[in-house]
Amino acid sequence: IEEKFDVIVVGAGMAGNAAALTLAQRGLKVLQLERGEYSGSKNVQGAILYADMLEKLIPDFREDAPLERHLVEQRFWMMDGRSHTGLHYRSDDFNEEKPNRYTIIRAQFDKWFSQKVREAGATVLCETTVTELAQDAYGKVIGVRTDRVDGEIHADVVVLAEGVNGLLGTRAHLRERPKPDKVALAVKEMHFLPRETIEARFNLKGDEGVVIEAAGTISRGMTGMGFIYANKECISLGIGCLVSDFQRTGETPYGLLDRFKRHPSVAPLIEGSEVKEYAAHLIPEGGFKAIPQLYGEGWVVVGDAAQLNNAIHREGSNLAMTSGRIAAEAIFQVKSRKDPMTAENLSLYKTMLDQSFVIKDLKKYKDMPALMHTQSQNFFLTYPELVSKAMQNFLRVDGTPKVDKEKTTFKSFIKARSWSGLFGDAFRLARAWR
Ligand code: FAD
Repeated sequence: IEEKFDVIVVGAGMAGNAAALTLAQRGLKVLQLERGEYSGSKNVQGAILYADMLEKLIPDFREDAPLERHLVEQRFWMMDGRSHTGLHYRSDDFNEEKPNRYTIIRAQFDKWFSQKVREAGATVLCETTVTELAQDAYGKVIGVRTDRVDGEIHADVVVLAEGVNGLLGTRAHLRERPKPDKVALAVKEMHFLPRETIEARFNLKGDEGVVIEAAGTISRGMTGMGFIYANKECISLGIGCLVSDFQRTGETPYGLLDRFKRHPSVAPLIEGSEVKEYAAHLIPEGGFKAIPQLYGEGWVVVGDAAQLNNAIHREGSNLAMTSGRIAAEAIFQVKSRKDPMTAENLSLYKTMLDQSFVIKDLKKYKDMPALMHTQSQNFFLTYPELVSKAMQNFLRVDGTPKVDKEKTTFKSFIKARSWSGLFGDAFRLARAWR
């Protein structure tokens, strides 16, 4: 391709689409390249969509976006082999005119999002893999090389929205490859059931939705979580753990998923379903300390490629959309001033991102990934088992005086963790949470 673009966006996921849309809406000449057959064909997510971040890009998205269910209930399960201890929040307030969170199916949603990008005026080329960044003699990024015959394409700035692997950035030495203890490998299945069966099993009516996040012995002492999300006619179910933990333990993702599905709390929810999709994908989990350099000479990096993922709150797509939008706004400002796309000028992106919830949230939990990793045996095995035994002891009515039950429970915690262990865990958790 001979013509030069203002911006090339690599990737048509949440971050890339947000960036390309914002840039095209501002009148910039945008080329977006996506290796998949269509936007969304390669993408995996639970998936919860956070409306606020999409509203900032497409205010009337509810009119035609392919949404599944709006969430009225969130459940958190702490699981052991046969039980779960739950924390539920359900509110009719979430049955509002403009709901705050929805379940979506990424393949459908990204296709719709990509159509909006095209309508805004961007050129979107699918089935085109960017093989490397084109750099000048001084290392400035001046465009990309692709697997198409007409190979190299030039632009003033390249937005790297290539997802968690970030191979292009790594190959160009702009960032390090994510380490195995900073990424989780998640596997997910889609279980199809009649709509009314899903609504009966999850206590839903109309388009109401519920999500279940689950942690505990299901990850066998590894740092990880499971999830069950109700869509209209299917249930999305998956589990993920740190790659380094899989390496260390020899456990397999499909082995974990299989056990999760057979758990007595989970099996009745998916009984009789037909599995039509199986996917595996990485999730950035290193948090604030794993964020690479976000900009340089002629480039910025957004979304999962920049490791912008809040594993504690299970938020990723909203950070991706927000970083994509903010990067585009920064580029637009530099362009409007007719300034060159130097690292110094593009640092505006980082300044703006630092002021957003994206960096503020990740900074808040900056010590959490390391804590969860080093204490995984305790948080994902010992405590869930102790809590489950305590709950059972508390609920079972068997003639044992309550005061004796309390003593038994108390002793079981001390025996498993000791006084100093219990205080240490509480202190470390409180410090990492603040
Ligand atoms: P992606 O969505 O991964 O998009 C990257 C795009 O770049 C892809 O389309 C890819 O094909 C393309 N690409 C890559 N390399 C090239 C190349 N060389 N040339 C051209 N194109 C390329 N987040 C939430 O907010 N809510 C959830 O419920 C949730 N659940 C999740 C469940 C699972 C199992 C997983 C794996 C993730 C989940 N996430 C969730 C995280 C969320 O999916 C990501 O944070 C989000 O998709 C990141 O968007 P992105 O655009 O940065 O990357």
